[in-house]
Amino acid sequence: MKGIVYKADKDMQVETVPDAAIENPRDAVIRVTKAAICGSDLHIYNHGEAFGFCDGDRCGHEFVGVVEEVGAEVSGLSVGDKVLSPFWISCGECHFCAKGLQTSCVNGGPYGFAPFWAHGGEIQGGQSEYVRVPHATGTLDVIPESLADSASDTKTLPLTDVFGTGYHAAVCGDIQPGDTVYVIGDGAVGLSAAHAATLFEPENIIVAGHHDDRLAIAETMGATHTINTSRDDAAELLAGLTEGRGPQAVLATISSPETMAFAAEQIEPGKSVAWVGMEVFLGAPEIPWDKAFFKNVGVKGGVAPVKSYLPTLWPLLEGGKIDPSPVLTHDMSMDEAATGYEVMASRQKGSVKVAITP
Ligand SMILES: [Zn+2]
Ligand SMILES: [Zn+2]
Repeated sequence: MKGIVYKADKDMQVETVPDAAIENPRDAVIRVTKAAICGSDLHIYNHGEAFGFCDGDRCGHEFVGVVEEVGAEVSGLSVGDKVLSPFWISCGECHFCAKGLQTSCVNGGPYGFAPFWAHGGEIQGGQSEYVRVPHATGTLDVIPESLADSASDTKTLPLTDVFGTGYHAAVCGDIQPGDTVYVIGDGAVGLSAAHAATLFEPENIIVAGHHDDRLAIAETMGATHTINTSRDDAAELLAGLTEGRGPQAVLATISSPETMAFAAEQIEPGKSVAWVGMEVFLGAPEIPWDKAFFKNVGVKGGVAPVKSYLPTLWPLLEGGKIDPSPVLTHDMSMDEAATGYEVMASRQKGSVKVAITP
C-alpha cells in the first residue's frame, strides 16, 4: 500500500509502506477514503529534523474511512462502518478520557508524529491507503448514516481536527450572544473557528490574516468583518467596534509570541484568550502578564479533545447548521499528494487546505 512519509526537511514522498494490519486485539484497520494535510504537518515538513523525525516516518493525522478489520477486543465497531478518527488516539477508559479530555489520554497520542509516540511499536499516518488505529473503540466515531457516503467526506473530514479545533477555540472563548469575537489567523483553523463562533450568536466576528483569498472564504463561513493585518490596523478596528473596551473573545489560532501578546493586550478585561495554534512549538507566547493580571485576563484552550465534541457536532452537521468543507480548497490523488505539501507550504494562491483521496 502507499502512504506519505517524511524523508527530510522539505521532502515528503509517496512510498510503498508495510500493509496496515492488526497488531493488538484493540486495533482496527481502516481503509482511508479521504485524508488531509494539516498546517501542523507543515511544521514537520519545514522543521521535522529538529523535532526528531527520521527518514521513513509516516505522516498524517486527519482521515475518514471504512472499517476493514477489527481486533478481538474491539467493541462498538463493525467491518464496513464508515468512521472518523480524531487526530489523537485515545483509549476511552483512563481518567482523562472519562473526563472528555482525550488529548491527555495516558495511553494515547497523535497519529503521524512518530517522535512523540510513547507507547511502543510504530505509529502510522493517516495519509495512506490504510491505517492501523490503536485503541479503536476509544478513538473512532461511527459517522451518522446520512453523512456516510463518499460525497460527504469533505464535510466530515474537517471534524477530525481543524473544525474540531476551531470549535474548541469558540467554546474556550466563552462567546456570549452579542459579543465581538476576534479570530487571529486565516488558515483552516481560523476559518473554522469563525464558522464555529456563529453557533454562539455573537454580533461581530472579525477574522484577521495576511491572505485576501482566504479572508474572502472567511466571509462565506461567518465572518462579519475581515482585516488584512499586513495593510490595516486591527487595534483601531477593534476599538471602533467595542467602544474601546476590546473584543469579548479572542480565538488565537496561530499562538505565535506576537499574536498572543496582541490578543492579551486587546481583549476586554475579565475575558479569556482561547489559544489553539501550534506555533507555540516555535516560540513561547510573549504575553504581558502584568497587564493580563490587572485586566483579569485568562488564557484557555490548548490541544483540542475533538472526540468529546463529536456528539454535539454530528447533529449540527447533519442538520446543515455547519459546513466546514470550504476549507478544503484542493483534492489530490495519493500519487500527487506530496505536491500538496508544496501547495500549502508555498501558500499557493487560492489554497487553504489539501485533501487526499487514496
Ligand atoms: Zn491537523
Ligand atoms: Zn485514555
